[in-house]
Amino acid sequence: MLAISLRLHNSQFHYKMLDIFTVVMFFKIFAKARKEGIMAYFNKKIVEDINVTGKKVLLRCDFNVPLDEKGRITNYKRIDETLKTIKYLLSNKAKVIMCSHMGRPDGKVDPKLSLKPVAEDLSKKLGFEVKLAKDVVGESAKELCANLKEGEAVLLENLRFRIEEQNNEETFAKELASLADVFVNDAFGTAHRKHASTFGVTKFLPSVGGYLMQKEIETMCSILENPKRPFVSILGGAKVSDKFNVINRLMEKVDTLIVGGGMAYTFMNAMGYSVGTSICEYDKADMAKDLMVKAKEKGIKLVMPMDNIVGLSYSPDTEFKLVKSDSIPEGWTGMDIGPETEKLFASAIQGAGTVVWNGPMGVSEWENFASGTCAVAKAIAESGAISIIGGGDSAASVEKLGYADKMTHISTGGGASLKLLEGASLPGVEGLEDK
Ligand code: AMP
Repeated sequence: MLAISLRLHNSQFHYKMLDIFTVVMFFKIFAKARKEGIMAYFNKKIVEDINVTGKKVLLRCDFNVPLDEKGRITNYKRIDETLKTIKYLLSNKAKVIMCSHMGRPDGKVDPKLSLKPVAEDLSKKLGFEVKLAKDVVGESAKELCANLKEGEAVLLENLRFRIEEQNNEETFAKELASLADVFVNDAFGTAHRKHASTFGVTKFLPSVGGYLMQKEIETMCSILENPKRPFVSILGGAKVSDKFNVINRLMEKVDTLIVGGGMAYTFMNAMGYSVGTSICEYDKADMAKDLMVKAKEKGIKLVMPMDNIVGLSYSPDTEFKLVKSDSIPEGWTGMDIGPETEKLFASAIQGAGTVVWNGPMGVSEWENFASGTCAVAKAIAESGAISIIGGGDSAASVEKLGYADKMTHISTGGGASLKLLEGASLPGVEGLEDK
């Protein structure tokens, strides 16, 4: 009897040990998954985690804002979204040295791409003059930085006036870093680029993230990790090849995938339709077929355009007409989705729990071909779904139509948000110090 009872105790003891072991393992696996999955969540230090008082802080911003033909800023989102970090640094008595790129001057000084309008806007918003250096790391920049006082800010001239920026040249990165004591990267929109000011400088300065960088990554990753279902993704824009990795990754998560814009014609070609002179990557037909097979195997609803607005030439005021997807005439170019497709897409979006949208449904920068993109923006706004909008054209249409406050998150970075959707790591984050 005693022997039996002892054996019983023994086995209960083993079970208890097994329980504890399971719980410990569970937490270990959970912690590991969180750490790895996050490249996912933002596990880097931010401005609050370091002492910035009295320090010269090199703040990488993404002030690559759109300008009209007169050089006036037409959308302030990227500037406004960075103000939180700038104001934090100023109120903590840092000496703030802001830097950014604008457009693609490719190493040449182009007065049209000067950051002057940004310096003027910042001066208005911060309530003091934000001086603009005449160069990036030259005499003017050095002098302004040397004379900076606590709670003041200056702006360096367009980083891409120096070719070394895009080439991530070490000597240039070192020179840039020598202006400051600390580096803060708040330029989410450029975080997918391995440039001197996003990656190179981190080798020479203690480096942390800003509030915008943190917000973009936290918001997107947390929504994507546990999306409310049904999870609908809408992809558009010019090319399938640009978004192949994203589509592949999203297929692991979504319930419905809507494809519009120029990339839809590559799928239509793969389905055997003739696509006229539409933008089409004929050499990617197999890729498109594979994606369609994968969607079927995974039970993902793949929604494609059923009608299209086609134009006689690729120009804003060309003659245009409506045709079904299986009857695009020779010599005509698909410019936008048609009204039946707008309804089809809207009904697929209705009732979604989460929506991720990247890329326009047509050549939305031309009024005659913006209808499909507007319809998608409206459908998302009315769906009540948790929504992430990435990509300049999609974000612009949402803002233009006044739906911005109906969206959960409008990203300031099209390319960087695509990289996050892909699950790729961002060079602009890699170099920052771990928490
Ligand atoms: P992306 O940068 O890949 O998101 O692509 C955005 C660009 O795709 C915009 O400039 C659009 O004009 C272009 N686009 C969208 N639909 C079409 C189309 N049907 N034909 C040609 N270009 C298109």
